[in-house]
Parts: sequence; structure tokens; C-alpha cells
Amino acid sequence: MTADFTFKCLIIGPSAVGKTSLIRRFVEDQFSTSYKFTIGVDFLAKTVKFEKDKIAKLSIWDVGGQERFKILRRSFYEGAHGALLVFDLSRANTFPKMKEWLIDMRSILEEKIPIIILGNKSDLLPEVGEVINRDKPKKFAENEESIYIETSAKTGDNVENAFIELTRRMLKQNS
Ligand code: GDP
Ligand code: MG
Repeated sequence: MTADFTFKCLIIGPSAVGKTSLIRRFVEDQFSTSYKFTIGVDFLAKTVKFEKDKIAKLSIWDVGGQERFKILRRSFYEGAHGALLVFDLSRANTFPKMKEWLIDMRSILEEKIPIIILGNKSDLLPEVGEVINRDKPKKFAENEESIYIETSAKTGDNVENAFIELTRRMLKQNS
């Protein structure tokens, strides 16, 4: 299968929101509860079928251990076609922190790339309740011409949808 398109896709957000877990769920369809898990590479690739007969190859870049090293972030951001911005539905402060990541990305990338806002760990909502008013990320996404999707890397809920939705938007921007 040869891909019709290749996109560089970023996954960013504060630590422990589930970025690595989302990639792992999407690429390998697996989940692990051990926090120390690290993918050990800069990016993973996966092809997605986003329409009948249309295939895109995504190289997915996880900011991983570079979170703190601003100087390294430039090469991380450069050339990106789209980004998933992740916060944790069980920790309210991760939402404002996620917004800082968007500001940081925009300070480096000149062109505006498609983004999707992800509220991850939706499986914890019944347990922890609504620690953040979800109208906020919804409104925020609308203002950014984006959409808000709630995912769970644990159950897999909406994970594939999120990547496919981003692929559609990257395609739209680049065709
Ligand atoms: P990262 O620092 O953003 O890459 O976060 P990780 O993927 O390492 O996940 C941090 C912790 O949250 C780990 O203990 C994961 O098992 C857990 N985690 C990640 N996604 C989910 C999820 O959707 N639901 C639940 N319940 N836990 C999650
Ligand atoms: Mg990680």
C-alpha cells in the first residue's frame, strides 16, 4: 500500500495527560498503566484509511522528554501539518496548561495548522466527576476553528476518530 499523503502530526500537552498512551493505543491498539512507559523514539508511523481508497501516512511526533527543553522544540514543531492538543479530564489544571502549549507552538510555527483539542481519560469521568466544565474546551475549540473530542486511551474510545478527524483537516488544508 502506498500512501497518497504523508503528514507530520504532533501530539502535545502537559505531562501525564496520556499523549504516549494515545499514540500507543492508536498505533498498537494497546494500553499500559505503568507511567514510566516511554516509546523511546521520536516518532511512530501509521497509515490510515480516511476515505474509500484514500490512504495517508502519519508520522506521529510525541514531545516526550523534550517537554522542558524549549530549544529542542523548534525542530519538533517545524514542518508539522497538524497537532492533537491533549489535556486530562481528571485534572483541571491541565486545560490551561494545554493552552500554553498552543501558544508555544504558534510562537514557533508561522502558518496556522489544523488542531484538535482532546480531553483524554474520559473513562475516569464517572469516577472523578466533571472537574472541568466541558463547555470551556468546547468553546475554546470553536474559537480556534477546531473541534473538541473526548478520548480514552484506556478503553480506546474515540482515539481512532481523533486521528482520522485530524487527517481530514490536514488533507483539506494541503489540497
Ligand atoms: P504522557 O506523559 O502525556 O505521555 O502520559 P502517559 O501516556 O505516559 O500517561 C500518563 C498516565 O496516565 C499513565 O499512568 C497512563 O496509564 C494513564 N492514562 C493515559 N491515558 C489514560 C486514559 O485514557 N484513561 C486512564 N484512566 N488513564 C490513562
Ligand atoms: Mg509521554
